[in-house]
Amino acid sequence: MMDHAMIGKIKKAKMYAEERSRFKFQSFSVEMDGKNNPHHVSFDAGTWQCDCDYFIGRGECSHTMALEMILKDMLDFVEA
Ligand SMILES: [Zn+2]
Repeated sequence: MMDHAMIGKIKKAKMYAEERSRFKFQSFSVEMDGKNNPHHVSFDAGTWQCDCDYFIGRGECSHTMALEMILKDMLDFVEA
């Protein structure tokens, strides 16, 4: 049963969901189903980590780049 307050909240949530740049992910970890095996990608305070070979020494890979595309405008990078 939905009351008026809840209807208002849902309306606001839909509005917020359209305004992605309001959201800044601080940290998270993701299991990514890669072509050969799953990869574990994490993001913390503007820094990526991935357990794939390509990431080592480069600091980015197709997994982190894909997440940047998905989370466009929602990642809180530390300004260099
Ligand atoms: Zn990777």
